[in-house]
Amino acid sequence: MTLADTVRAVGRWFAGGEQEPEPDPNALGTPERAMVVMAHPDDAEFVCGGTVARWCAEGSEVVYVVVTGGDKGTHDPEMHPEKLAAIREEEQRAACRALGVKECVFLGHPDGHTIDEEELRGQIVRLIRIHRPDVIVTWDAFRRGFNHRDHRNVGILTADAVYPLVRDRLYYPRDEEDGLPSHEVNEVLFAGSEDPDYTIDVTDHWETRLEAVLCHASQIGGRTREDFLRMREEMIARQGHDRMEERFRRWSIRRSPPPPREAANPQARS
Ligand SMILES: [Zn+2]
Repeated sequence: MTLADTVRAVGRWFAGGEQEPEPDPNALGTPERAMVVMAHPDDAEFVCGGTVARWCAEGSEVVYVVVTGGDKGTHDPEMHPEKLAAIREEEQRAACRALGVKECVFLGHPDGHTIDEEELRGQIVRLIRIHRPDVIVTWDAFRRGFNHRDHRNVGILTADAVYPLVRDRLYYPRDEEDGLPSHEVNEVLFAGSEDPDYTIDVTDHWETRLEAVLCHASQIGGRTREDFLRMREEMIARQGHDRMEERFRRWSIRRSPPPPREAANPQARS
């Protein structure tokens, strides 16, 4: 028995045996197309990298939109913003290759200054109309306490873009003039939520996610693959099972079909 097996066995013993979750009849399944809208390079790998790895492995086309250059994320006294943004863009591209992401769009806004404003909202609307995702993953803007203004504003901008702006053709009419029709997104998964209600099992894709996380060398403080593997074993012992999961708050926008006529109008029944 390896150390990892021992840690798992002890974790199960403390938890009174491993409980397999019930299958969810409303599970999302694998989206044909998904979009991940995040504030900084590396956000996605930390909060939904396993989900992205799983979707890509199962055949989804996943597109990233990264709003800022992440150009303030350093304590290095020699670093300057342009250089850091270039480093982080390369790190993000490498992470996308590791995960199998189809395309990564960098909007290049300055780190820490994201505003809930018209032009950026229009950029996100247009990208959704171009790539036509079924599912979008973004930040949960409404977590209380610790949050980052870029995460908060990107979450608000993206939710507002999904409903109603992307759906209704008269918002940002330039898109339609350019041949980009309106679009309906069915599901949004909010990451970093304090009240998550939807879980995706990423156990089989956790190591792909780790490869992607390790691409962000400027952001992981010298931690190595072995450090992350040790953290995983500690988590397994703590949680009492060896599933790796990512958790979200789910917003389903799928239109329910109209009720049958007789149910809608009981007097019509004989
Ligand atoms: Zn961030």
